[in-house]
Amino acid sequence: MSTVEKKEFKSELKQILNLITHSLYSNKEVFLRELISNASDAIDKIRFDSLGNEALLENNKEWKIKIIPDKKNNTLTISDNGIGMSRETIMENLGTIAKSGTKEFLEKLKTAEAAFRPELIGQFGVGFYSAFMVADSVTVISRTAGEKSSGVQWVSDGQGEYTVEPAEKELRGTDVILHLKEEEKDFLEEWKIRSLVKQFSDFIEHPVVMDVEKEEDKKKSVAEETLNSRKALWLRSKNDVTKEEYEQFYQQISNDFNPPAKVIHYTGEGMVEFKVLLFIPSKKPFDMMFGEPKVGPKLYIRRVLIMDHCEQLLPPYMRFVKGVVDCADLPLNVSREMLQQNPQLEKIKNNLVKSVIKNLEEMKNNEYEQYVSFFKEFGQFIKEGVHSDWTNKEQLSELLLFESVKTEEGKFLSLPQYAEQMPSEQKEIYFLTGEDRETLLHTPYLETFKAKEWNVLLMTDPIDEFILPYLTEYKGKKLIGADKAELPSDKEKEQNEAQKIFAPLFDAMKAKLDHVKEIRVSSRLKESASCLVNDANAMSANMERIMQKLGQMDESKKTERILELNIEHPVVIALRNIFEADANDKRIEIYTKLLYDQAVIAEGSKVKDPTALSKMINDLLLQTASR
Ligand code: ADP
Repeated sequence: MSTVEKKEFKSELKQILNLITHSLYSNKEVFLRELISNASDAIDKIRFDSLGNEALLENNKEWKIKIIPDKKNNTLTISDNGIGMSRETIMENLGTIAKSGTKEFLEKLKTAEAAFRPELIGQFGVGFYSAFMVADSVTVISRTAGEKSSGVQWVSDGQGEYTVEPAEKELRGTDVILHLKEEEKDFLEEWKIRSLVKQFSDFIEHPVVMDVEKEEDKKKSVAEETLNSRKALWLRSKNDVTKEEYEQFYQQISNDFNPPAKVIHYTGEGMVEFKVLLFIPSKKPFDMMFGEPKVGPKLYIRRVLIMDHCEQLLPPYMRFVKGVVDCADLPLNVSREMLQQNPQLEKIKNNLVKSVIKNLEEMKNNEYEQYVSFFKEFGQFIKEGVHSDWTNKEQLSELLLFESVKTEEGKFLSLPQYAEQMPSEQKEIYFLTGEDRETLLHTPYLETFKAKEWNVLLMTDPIDEFILPYLTEYKGKKLIGADKAELPSDKEKEQNEAQKIFAPLFDAMKAKLDHVKEIRVSSRLKESASCLVNDANAMSANMERIMQKLGQMDESKKTERILELNIEHPVVIALRNIFEADANDKRIEIYTKLLYDQAVIAEGSKVKDPTALSKMINDLLLQTASR
């Protein structure tokens, strides 16, 4: 049997390779970061696996990643003593892309600004292939724990095909050998390699080493030198870490080139001891813009990486938080099942959640501008928290920001601020939901609030509708939709009497309308003639529109509204006069439908039959013209 097998890359991968090699040329140096990071992951894996099976180590556990520049042969080798790959795994890992969302990735990569492309590459996990930016051919020789001859050699020029064949390899692990392109020989220079490792891989826990020539007393010698500082920042005390170090570390674990908005670094004490170094990003990283980001910080146990994303340590709504937790008290050989219902992790999780919330509170109180820009990027996650995290709901609701009738466009108000500014006679918190600020500001619902000078929160984010059922009150004050509220009225008696007087007209009007369950005298209208309101528990018009867009709402399910009329409005007065003169006057139907359609438009919905509406208006226009 021929031992060399030729294989073809999967087609998506071909496209990606093509893009990587052609669109990333200005950030070629990221290849080294990616290969070192793969090597480091491979070491983490064998270290973890060997905890339960020491034989895997083959007495080779002086973890290191070695960089070997060879100017004679024009090759750069990145060698590790990590877990290695078998023939099957190498074909799977370096021949296909298993990740979902490849299409979106390709699209993003095409359109992303050049500066963001390296981040994308790292986040999507196509790191290995970035080698082809600098190499015209790559050889990988790898062996898992076992026989020396059980190794495998993989070779490709990155054009679409690769070969695999058996190979002998003395030591467990992987050598990635790059046959550098003629114009990329710079990457063989010691200074270049040093500076790239320092810049991109300084915090990698395992030593990244290189043979370096030294001259002492005119005698030349070669010695292995560690190029990275390997500082586990989270184990150090806060005072010993500089802002730059935090930022560099954050960049390395998040692939986000923006500095974080907040660094959270502390030692947790009590039943368990744990070190925490978390970051709140300032901008949404790319993994949040397409695909679902993984939840949870890296979990280390006494400096040994156990997993990259420990979901047991942060709730899903805090998936924007990046960082590291190092727990001294867990056994190293902890299994995933054990992590699942581990009471210690549960305690740490509660502690992390509280401290993220506390840090956000501090940011809101002390660095308001920064908080606002955080909220614009990540507010949706806080809202998700209000929806899902019952224990911390009140604190999370205090982190919310809303525009309001009284704030300028683009400026915000929190619930505590709103409550503080309420006049003493106002007992509840009012809000209005809808698509945009402008439309809301012109709805008739605000007329009484304007007259009373009461503020109303404007909620224009679709997700607001979904959190409102969970946000029924704040500190004893009910949150009430301005389009639902039965406003406290000082003219209740007069209103009841008016309702009786108007009853025959209202009955006649109701008979001409399909979707109205009641017509009543309004206490909220000052200028407009009519508006539609809902019962306190009914779905809002905005929510109905959202559900309709989602395909979750058909006409028949729509709630019947209450039509409110302003009985001091000249049109309503005129209608009443017509009705009293002749209860069968044809104009009653036209007036009724027009008042109803006006109310539909005012709440931001579409009228059912715009043609009929135009016709009614035109008929009226003609009547006035012919007078
Ligand atoms: P990612 O590292 O993001 O998964 P890559 O394209 O860089 O994506 O690598 C694909 C896979 O190849 C890795 O997930 C890993 O399983 C395997 N791999 C790459 N480099 C090594 C290595 N040095 N040792 C062992 N496995 C490796």
